[in-house]
Amino acid sequence: MSVRRTCLTPLFCRRCLYRCDHPLGLVLDDEGICSGCRIHEEKDSLDWTARWERLKALVKPYRSRDGRNYDCIVPVTGAHDSYFIVHVVKERLGLNPLLVTYNKYFNTELGIRNLANLRIRFDCDILVQHVNPASVRRVTRATLRQFGSIYWHCFAGQTVFPVQTAVRYGVPLIIWGAHQGIEQVGMFSHEHEVQMTRRYRKDHDLMGQEADDLLSMFDTLTEDDVWQYRYPDDGKLDDVGVVGIYLGNYVRWDPKAQHEQMMAAHGYRTARFARTFDAYDHVDCFNYLHLHDLLKLYKHGYSKVTDHASREIRYGRLTRAQGLALARRHEQQPPEYVDLFCEWLGVTRTSLQFLTDLHRNPEYWSQPEPGRWTFRGWSTLQDATTVADDGTTACAFAATDVMDSRDQPSYIIVGKGHP
Ligand SMILES: [Zn+2]
Repeated sequence: MSVRRTCLTPLFCRRCLYRCDHPLGLVLDDEGICSGCRIHEEKDSLDWTARWERLKALVKPYRSRDGRNYDCIVPVTGAHDSYFIVHVVKERLGLNPLLVTYNKYFNTELGIRNLANLRIRFDCDILVQHVNPASVRRVTRATLRQFGSIYWHCFAGQTVFPVQTAVRYGVPLIIWGAHQGIEQVGMFSHEHEVQMTRRYRKDHDLMGQEADDLLSMFDTLTEDDVWQYRYPDDGKLDDVGVVGIYLGNYVRWDPKAQHEQMMAAHGYRTARFARTFDAYDHVDCFNYLHLHDLLKLYKHGYSKVTDHASREIRYGRLTRAQGLALARRHEQQPPEYVDLFCEWLGVTRTSLQFLTDLHRNPEYWSQPEPGRWTFRGWSTLQDATTVADDGTTACAFAATDVMDSRDQPSYIIVGKGHP
């Protein structure tokens, strides 16, 4: 029986780059291996053929009997694991999904192209939710100021619009990709087959703040600004029998391999980023791997490249030393496309910097003199003697496209699709 340690003294996992004060919650066992790494081991021990059969049985009752409604709802974007999820749902399970997407407004041309190609390739209907842009800006100003987050509206919209659509269309089954709490920190075993909950969304996706909490917190916001982000009440969810399942509990999840399969089979396109080595996720957004990622570094002392490196270490495609070298190389890269964001939000770069500096966590950042910051985050606290930073790894990501905003003075607010 392994002994679980609490995180009184922050300790790093001996296998991946996570520390026991990970914001999603993580524990180390008596061998110094984290819960995320331990649950990852299930990927090589579970009987995935049997789990696939469980999934087939699970979705069977949700097939529309007369073909007059959709079988399920699949939340998608122009990136993430959208292609693979739709591939599994439509081509392998034979379900007829309604795709839904929340317009987060930070759209890249590549993301709009990927999303258009997705619905054409897989021959699916799609619903797009465009919340009034003035409200989205007001909400973003408020969450940036209060929580140092420019992404609250994106997380809120992406996680609630599929649930609202399930209720409105009377389609109870929502199919998500992987559960972030399982993939990153091993919050649950795959065998628990956890489903979507209101609670997880609030605690982790929304930083503990529901739409109504914003309303009571900010006198700059009104009911008109937040109602679109409100989770349906339990009575409505029960009437329709809404359930949200995660494919990662039934399919051996491997985002890198899946993206490469989708690039070859369905024309998913990718781009390289300065702040991480993973060229596959988040190509639909100008901010997720730039300004949003920098704010993650300010607040939590690590950024997305540490998530990507920890994931690749677990799959055996990076050594720990290589992962740490990649984290150090990428995490201090300056974010790009900040002017696009300032133009959209209506703030100057100086006032944005002032606002974001307020959210630098003093545990990781100190200011020896005005305007000069010293970083003491996760990557600086690990043993450097084992780091081999020769820039070579067996973990190659292929970029098909180059992200470019030179011809784009502002965000593409509404994408018309793609030929
Ligand atoms: Zn670990």
